[in-house]
Amino acid sequence: MAEREFSADEAAVLAPFVTNLDGPIFGLRNLPEVVKGALFSRYSRSDKDLRRILLDEFIQAPEADFGRIVNGQDARDQLVAVKQAEAFYDRVLVGYGDDSVAELGGAHIACEQISNIAAKALEDSRIGIDPLEKSTRYVAFNKRDAQGRYRYYREPQIMQSRCAERYEAALDRLFQTYDELLPPTLAWVRAQTARDTHTSERAYNSATRAKALDLLRGLLPMATLTNVGLFGNGRAFEYLLIKLSASPLAELQQLAARLQDELDQLIPSFVKRPKTARGDAYRHYLAQTRAMLAAQVHVQTSGLRKHPAPSVWMADYDRDAEIKLAAAIMYPYTDLPLEQVQNLARAMSTAERVELIRTAVGERQNRFHRPSRAFEEVFYTFDFLADIGAYRDLQRHRMLTQERQRYSVIHGYSTPPELQAAGVADAFEAALEHAASVALAVEDELPEAAQYVVPFAFRIRWRMKLNLREAYHLLELRSSPQGHPSYRTIAQEMFRQIKAVHPALAEGIQFVDLNDYPLERLAAEQRLDQKLRDLGGTAL
Ligand SMILES: Cc1cc2nc3c(=O)[nH]c(=O)nc-3n(C[C@H](O)[C@H](O)[C@H](O)COP(=O)(O)OP(=O)(O)OC[C@H]3O[C@@H](n4cnc5c(N)ncnc54)[C@H](O)[C@@H]3O)c2cc1C
Repeated sequence: MAEREFSADEAAVLAPFVTNLDGPIFGLRNLPEVVKGALFSRYSRSDKDLRRILLDEFIQAPEADFGRIVNGQDARDQLVAVKQAEAFYDRVLVGYGDDSVAELGGAHIACEQISNIAAKALEDSRIGIDPLEKSTRYVAFNKRDAQGRYRYYREPQIMQSRCAERYEAALDRLFQTYDELLPPTLAWVRAQTARDTHTSERAYNSATRAKALDLLRGLLPMATLTNVGLFGNGRAFEYLLIKLSASPLAELQQLAARLQDELDQLIPSFVKRPKTARGDAYRHYLAQTRAMLAAQVHVQTSGLRKHPAPSVWMADYDRDAEIKLAAAIMYPYTDLPLEQVQNLARAMSTAERVELIRTAVGERQNRFHRPSRAFEEVFYTFDFLADIGAYRDLQRHRMLTQERQRYSVIHGYSTPPELQAAGVADAFEAALEHAASVALAVEDELPEAAQYVVPFAFRIRWRMKLNLREAYHLLELRSSPQGHPSYRTIAQEMFRQIKAVHPALAEGIQFVDLNDYPLERLAAEQRLDQKLRDLGGTAL
C-alpha cells in the first residue's frame, strides 16, 4: 500500500486535521501550534509522509495525549494537556537539534496601552515578527481614560522623582494642545481644499481629517499610549523577550515578563530560552556590553562640538556599483565562477553594462515589479536628522539596517508650515517648548526615562544602510502621494542623492514621486471609494 493511502478508519481520524487526504500538497488545520511544530520537526528526521507521521506518532501515540490536546473543552484545558505531554513534545523538538525549530510555532499577541517607546522596541524586530500599530493618522489621540486622564505612560521612576508634577503638567499640555488645535486645523485644511464633485463626502472627510492629524502628530510625546498587534514565531519572540528584558527601561522589562506569560499559554515549547540560564547569560551580555560601550564612547566623544549636518546625508556608497551589479546580474545565467564574471563585468564597456542593467530592470509596470536579487549587491549608507514622526514611519522597514540615537530634545523641532498658515503654530510651539524644558530637567536625573517626554516633532538622528533592491521598494513606497510629507521629503532626497552618484542605477527606480500634494490621502480615499463600490459596502 502506498504510504499516502489510508484505511477508512484512518481517513476519518485524519480528515479534520488536513485539507486533503491524498494530494501531495495539503495544509494542516485544527492543530495546536506545538503539534504542528513537532510534526514539522519530525519531517526532517523521517522518511514517512506528514499525514502518516501525524497518525502514527501523534494521534496514536499515548504519550502525545493528542485527544486531550485537540479536543480540550477550552484553551486552558488544551494548555494543561500540552503541559502534561511536555516531555514528549520536548523530546520530539530536541531531536531536531537546531534553533530554527522554534520558528515552527507562531502566535498572535496584542500589546495594549504601551508607550511609543515600547511600540518602537517591539517594531525593531525584523525577521519573524510582523507588527501592526494603531495609526496616528486615522485615530485621534485625544481620548481620556476612565479617570479622565490623558492616555500617556506615567513612567514609574519619573513619577517617584521630584519631576513628577512637571512631567504630568508638560504631557497634559501637549495632549490638551493637540485636542484644542484639532478643530481649527481641520477647518483650515478644509478651507484650503474644497470638496469637488468627483469626491465623495466620506473620502473628503477622511482625507482632510488624516491631514489635520498628520499636522498635529508632532505634539504627541513618546509616552503616548498605543496598541500594537504582533504575529510572530517562537524564535523571534525569544530574541525579542531577551532584548526587552535587557533594557534599562522598566516598562520594557515589564513588557517582556507579560509577553512571556502570555506566550507561555500559546506556544510554551517555543519560548523557553528566555527563562533558562542561557537566556540570563544572553541578557547579561547585552546589558553589560551596552553599559561598557556607553561609558567608552562617552570618554571618546565628550568635549566634541556637534557639526551642523543636513537632514539627509549619503555617508557612503558602492564605488564599484555598476561592475558588481553587472556581475551579479550575469552570474545565475553562467557556469563561471564569480571572480571570472566580475572580471568580465569590469572589462565590459559602460554602454554594455548599462544595457545589461536596463535588461535586468525590465519593463516594470508598477512599483510591485521588483528586479532580481542581483540588485542587493549594491549598498548605500545614509545619516538622517529628521523629526521622530518620520523616524517612526521609516523604522518599519526591515530589509535593511537601521539604528537610532536616543530620543531627545537637543536637536530642536520642526513645525509644519501649514500650522503657521492655519494660525496655530504659536500654541503648537509653546507646548513643545514647555515639554523640552521638562525633558531637560528630567534628563539631569533620569536620562533614560527622560525620553518619554520627547514629542514626535523633535528631531532624531539615525543611520540606514540599505541595498539597491530595498531602495527601489522604500523610495517608491515612501514617496507615494498618500505618504506623510515628513518621510516623503526624505525618500525624495535619498533618491536625488542616489541618482547623483549612480544615474544609471537610479534610472530603474522609476516610480518615485517627486511632486507635492496638498491633500496626500485624497487619491487613496477616492480609490477606496471605488473598491467599496465594487464590494457593495461601506468603510468600517
Ligand atoms: C501609507 C502607509 C500607511 C501605513 N499605515 C500603517 C498603520 O496604520 N499601521 C502600521 O502598523 N503600519 C502602517 N504602515 C507601515 C507598513 O505596514 C509597513 O510596516 C511599512 O511600510 C514597511 O513596509 P514593508 O513591510 O513593505 O517593507 P520592508 O520591511 O522594507 O520589506 C521589504 C519587502 O520585503 C518583504 N517582507 C519583509 N518582511 C516580510 C515579512 N515578514 N513577511 C513577508 N514579506 C516580507 C515584503 O515584500 C516587503 O515589501 C503604513 C505604511 C504606509 C506606506
